[in-house]
Amino acid sequence: MSPHQPILETLRTLKSRPAGARRPIAVYDLDSTLFCTGPRNLAIARAFAEYRHQLRPFVDRLEEHRMGWNVMADLEALGFADKAILEELRHFWRATFFTDHFVKMDSVYPGAVELVKTVQNSGCLTYYLTGRDDPGMRQGTLEALSAAGFPLPCENVILRLKPTWEEEDLAFKTQVFEELHALGEVVLAFENEPANANRFHHAFPGATVVLHATIHAPNPEPLDAGVHVLPALAGPWIEALALQ
Ligand SMILES: [Mg+2]
Repeated sequence: MSPHQPILETLRTLKSRPAGARRPIAVYDLDSTLFCTGPRNLAIARAFAEYRHQLRPFVDRLEEHRMGWNVMADLEALGFADKAILEELRHFWRATFFTDHFVKMDSVYPGAVELVKTVQNSGCLTYYLTGRDDPGMRQGTLEALSAAGFPLPCENVILRLKPTWEEEDLAFKTQVFEELHALGEVVLAFENEPANANRFHHAFPGATVVLHATIHAPNPEPLDAGVHVLPALAGPWIEALALQ
């Protein structure tokens, strides 16, 4: 079976929803689900290497499409072993990764825009639910969504960011579940973190929950059997969208 099949089935059921059914909602995480953070991590490493030139030959060997979850680990894997400089980079990363300036450097996973548009055209409210924080990253996120061609916030498109940088991502997202229940019926949810996908699966048992298998935090919890794994977002919606 195609890994896209559960999504297609869900879209098909939307066509025969009874009159008066609750509004269908599709929820999307952003980082490492719709957007690839590799170019952002690489840009941060390059910016830092301006201050620590011994890092430069290692940074030059990084490739944006092969960056892992942790740029310090990527550099260590290439043989860079100066722990003090890696610790400095960790601080630099924390100060820069969650900013309007650097967030705009992300690339978009192939098929992501077409997926979101096709689901939207099927009648779903688009709900971007992200661990990016409102004070630091709203403007950059809006610009990145716009530049990529994603649907932008309006009556049928919601962008929900964390109110503070300090708030823990999963705790924030589970708090938002109540708002989602009140808003309509979550029918689709896309995540890259297994723990987050599992919470969606528990909270919205009728939804199709999809894990986009990109990168995730270390030591992930086991994925629930009911969560669908998608190796790539590019799929039949590209042709479907072209025909509309
Ligand atoms: Mg994510």
